[in-house]
Amino acid sequence: MAAEAVLRRVVVGVLDTNCWVLHARGDRRALVVDPGDEAGRVLAAVADLDVVAVLLTHAHFDHVLAVPDVTGTLGVPVLAHPAEAPVWPHEVEAARRAGHWDAGTATADLLARDPAPLAFSASAARWDGAYTPVADGEALVVGPLEVTALHTPGHTPGGLTLSVDGHLLTGDTLFPGGPGLTGPPLSNFPTIIGSVRRLLTWPGPTRIHPGHGPDTTVAAERPHLETWTARGW
Ligand SMILES: [Zn+2]
Ligand SMILES: [Zn+2]
Repeated sequence: MAAEAVLRRVVVGVLDTNCWVLHARGDRRALVVDPGDEAGRVLAAVADLDVVAVLLTHAHFDHVLAVPDVTGTLGVPVLAHPAEAPVWPHEVEAARRAGHWDAGTATADLLARDPAPLAFSASAARWDGAYTPVADGEALVVGPLEVTALHTPGHTPGGLTLSVDGHLLTGDTLFPGGPGLTGPPLSNFPTIIGSVRRLLTWPGPTRIHPGHGPDTTVAAERPHLETWTARGW
């Protein structure tokens, strides 16, 4: 019988990013997906597990800020898609210029808060941007679980979705109610719609776990694909 996937969710950082911990029931070996902030809480969530790697659905700041602390403490590699390489340098350079991280449509509201949750510290420890490339269709072994990486670009050029045992971890590619933002630089709407169209060919009961907010299913979202395509966002 195939291994059953277990998902733990740790909601971290200023944009309430879902950091996912994935392992097989009864097995300690685990994958950490998108350690976006609050490394201490992420590490506490995996204290009873043996983490094999950190995987990034994409390299926006809200998905990677805890990478140096988590990988440094655990001594594990970072995995991401090759096409994502420009995104983190772009994030850091834009933040250095502006003095704050760019949170898309939430930026103005967050900049008005005191203390400033998007503040950029030039001296803070940051991920160096180095990672092990993962290709579309590549199988990742997490104990007895076979996880398939899917290249789902559009929100960013190297977006990854993970498919495992009736679950899709979609990062910021697909949420309840539509695709992720394509306003920011390095995004493209027709590209994300292509990725979403592909994901919605999974069986209806497949559970979708996005990078922020609640879960949904393929069956709940599939009927809206043409509406999203027509509205253009
Ligand atoms: Zn994002
Ligand atoms: Zn995000």
